[in-house]
Amino acid sequence: MRKITEIVIHASATRPDWMTERPITDKLAEIRRWHTTDRGWSDIGYHLLIDRDGTVAAGRPLERTGAHVRGRNTGTIGICLIGGHGSAKTDAFHDNFTIRQHAALKAQIAALQARFGTLRVTGHNQYAAKACPGFSVPQWLATGRDTRAPETPKDSSTEAARLRWRLAEIRDTAASALGGA
Ligand SMILES: [Zn+2]
Repeated sequence: MRKITEIVIHASATRPDWMTERPITDKLAEIRRWHTTDRGWSDIGYHLLIDRDGTVAAGRPLERTGAHVRGRNTGTIGICLIGGHGSAKTDAFHDNFTIRQHAALKAQIAALQARFGTLRVTGHNQYAAKACPGFSVPQWLATGRDTRAPETPKDSSTEAARLRWRLAEIRDTAASALGGA
């Protein structure tokens, strides 16, 4: 196994309804096609993909160096969240991704740290002038959630999204307090 020191988070830059109702394996195959057929790489550039519903799929084997962040592929694992089309690096996690993706990403990071030891966790936008993954990873890590949830929700769907987020957060906190996370 190569030495792993860091996880770099990415987004697929696809719309929220991209290939909706299709399994993560189909999305993986499509992104692999972009990276191999279109770009001429040997395989998909990312090691893990996390779908909108939190389903995780393995891309390039962890043993192999990925192709996801220029100059930083050595020693890193690339995790790609499905979504993020039109995102900005100043967006909050939940502006572009789901609560299930939040939980799945946290779980994947924990699992990788359990396997490889303490790893630095960063976002692509810390190394390139890109929006990817469409939020600030340091801020997301520091708070465990979005800090810029709207103070005054613009409409009921925003309010519902905010409440769902809060509920998931409470559930996460309760689960970890009870040791069931
Ligand atoms: Zn990226």
